[in-house]
Amino acid sequence: MIANYGYTDGSGEYYISINTSFCAECQTHPCISACPQGVFEMITDDYDEPACSVKDSFRKKLNYTCSTCKPARKSSESPLFLPCVQACVNRAIKHTW
Ligand code: SF4
Ligand code: SF4
Repeated sequence: MIANYGYTDGSGEYYISINTSFCAECQTHPCISACPQGVFEMITDDYDEPACSVKDSFRKKLNYTCSTCKPARKSSESPLFLPCVQACVNRAIKHTW
């Protein structure tokens, strides 16, 4: 399942999508410790499987929160430098901006 967390405002679309189909087989959840802001947590999804999720408290301020990892750059540049994206070997985490 693809879970989308975030919002749209006048300046753009700020969503993190997580392909949670990989999370049940993921033993160490490296995305959790990789994020310097503590954005992620593990939950049990609707299918009773462990899944990575964006904490409620961050869902409406992702542009602000992630700005520490996202210096000014062109949107065409690779997002792979982001700690959360790098940490997940399954490439389950994507950002829209
Ligand atoms: S590292 Fe990837 S597969 Fe593992 S819990 Fe995080 S998002 Fe899911
Ligand atoms: S971009 Fe940085 S602050 Fe935002 S979720 Fe990824 S690791 Fe966390």
